[in-house]
Amino acid sequence: MTQIRLHNTKTRRKEDFDPIDPRNVRMYLCGPTVYDRAHLGNARNVLMFDVLFRLLRLTYGKKSVTYVRNFTDVDDKINAKAAETRREIGDITAETIGWYHDDMDALGAMRPTHEPRATQYIAQMIAMSQDLIAKGHAYEAEGHVLFAVESYSEYGVLSGRSIDDMIAGARVEVAPYKRNPMDFVLWKPSGDGQPGWDSPWGYGRPGWHIECSAMALDLLGSTFDIHGGGNDLQFPHHENEIAQSTCAGHDFANVWLHNEMLQVEGKKMSKSLGNFFTVRDLLDQGVHGMVIRLVMLGTHYGKPMDWTEKKKGEAEAALRKWYGILQGHGFSPALVKALKAEGVWKADPEFLGVLANDLNTSGAISRLHVMAKGKTPSALAGFAHAMQMLGFVSNWADIPMLDGGEAGADVTPEVAARVDALLAQRAQARAAKDWGLADEVRDILNAAGVQVTDVGGQATWTQGPDFDAAKLGDL
Ligand code: AMP
Ligand code: ZN
Repeated sequence: MTQIRLHNTKTRRKEDFDPIDPRNVRMYLCGPTVYDRAHLGNARNVLMFDVLFRLLRLTYGKKSVTYVRNFTDVDDKINAKAAETRREIGDITAETIGWYHDDMDALGAMRPTHEPRATQYIAQMIAMSQDLIAKGHAYEAEGHVLFAVESYSEYGVLSGRSIDDMIAGARVEVAPYKRNPMDFVLWKPSGDGQPGWDSPWGYGRPGWHIECSAMALDLLGSTFDIHGGGNDLQFPHHENEIAQSTCAGHDFANVWLHNEMLQVEGKKMSKSLGNFFTVRDLLDQGVHGMVIRLVMLGTHYGKPMDWTEKKKGEAEAALRKWYGILQGHGFSPALVKALKAEGVWKADPEFLGVLANDLNTSGAISRLHVMAKGKTPSALAGFAHAMQMLGFVSNWADIPMLDGGEAGADVTPEVAARVDALLAQRAQARAAKDWGLADEVRDILNAAGVQVTDVGGQATWTQGPDFDAAKLGDL
């Protein structure tokens, strides 16, 4: 069995991952607040956890992994949107969840085992808040229930801060009913027109953090293996989840994974800089979901990542080539079945070793480039298996086709004929052992950004990211 290693934020070290129960490996990812389309940054940990889910399923068995990702469907941002658009909250959240599924499906992300919605867990959140009050970790004040951070000596351990640092560094909401400015809301009162539920403290609604503690407890149990989210959630969200769950008597998550943020062309993605875009914006521009996936997986989750046009172009070229190889060798459900019978349909050990080392997706992709050089279907079995494992192929009867895109725009029939003629000339030169001429032709193709792949003795070509038809010489 592959030994997976993960960098645990809690211990700040890379550790061997050993599940509590290998027959039921359990993980939780903090999901979206559903009031708007997912932006590109939101897709980053979805794809990271998707790869982790696939790796755990491969390692422990498909039925032995439980993956929970919640929808936050009660939140003041949703209320604001409802007020602004004069629409029902339920309509907005249902519509947004539908969009989210469409967008993440397009990126090849598998649906988690459970996708609970916060509003389905109000009773559990009330029960946990009551329990925390009973245990002296929370108190009621003016219709609010607040968690008393000073009642938990380990508060701040995950993010490595002291309560004093937090007060100094954070913009905390000072309120007269709080004993300590860092105390956070488990429950708050709702006024007219705000969503609310009856509770022992009056009509109100839950705070944000308590939902993940309540849903994880219900769906994954008192203790589970992995919990994750973006770096921005380490504090206060994850710190608060730990405080609530631990003080309620649960061991909660063993391993904490946090991804770094996504930037665009070196700058933080933000609406005011005008470089803010949603996953749907890119899909609508004709960027294939698999291209987004490949760009995202090209950077290790623990490093800040930059979305650039250049990376997009490179990912397009790589996927055109890879899908071309799979199609060129006739990959299909029947061929995969035959490769299974032959005993070669399995994960490449080097590929798997790289991936299992703290989800080194960029290293795994480098290995894909090497494995793609196989010359026969059997020699390509490891490559094809890895393409499926990384989520680039989900159905062998339907290998994605990348067409269109900017790179396709320059190819007129004349240009295509010129490339074909150059390739024919290269083949003739090689046959005649005229290596000087063969190299000359190769240099022209390289200079023009043509990527040549030899599949089964036949040269196929695609446009690289720097494709320039003008450099092909006389047409
Ligand atoms: P939000 O909807 O802002 O609560 O974010 C949902 C998820 O996306 C959380 O796990 C965030 O940490 C993550 N996230 C938000 N912005 C970015 C970003 N720019 N890059 C990477 N992850 C992000
Ligand atoms: Zn959460």
